[in-house]
Amino acid sequence: MPTSPVADGVTFQPNLYYATTQRDNNPDCDNYNKVFEAAEFYSNDGVHVVIYCGRCGQLMEILTAALLDPQPEVM
Ligand SMILES: [Zn+2]
Repeated sequence: MPTSPVADGVTFQPNLYYATTQRDNNPDCDNYNKVFEAAEFYSNDGVHVVIYCGRCGQLMEILTAALLDPQPEVM
């Protein structure tokens, strides 16, 4: 299973939602070095966290992650 690179100091607990920022590190992509935000990012098992670039399809590096409090309600 692919896993996004994660910046130093960023950790995830399993099965929780986070607000994250992530950066595209692919120099061939129009999004190179741009930082994006995700308002509700799910941590899966806390290890295999995955955010793809919508343009080049490569994994983006997760720069920051803030645990959502309260957690969003999931139907
Ligand atoms: Zn990209």
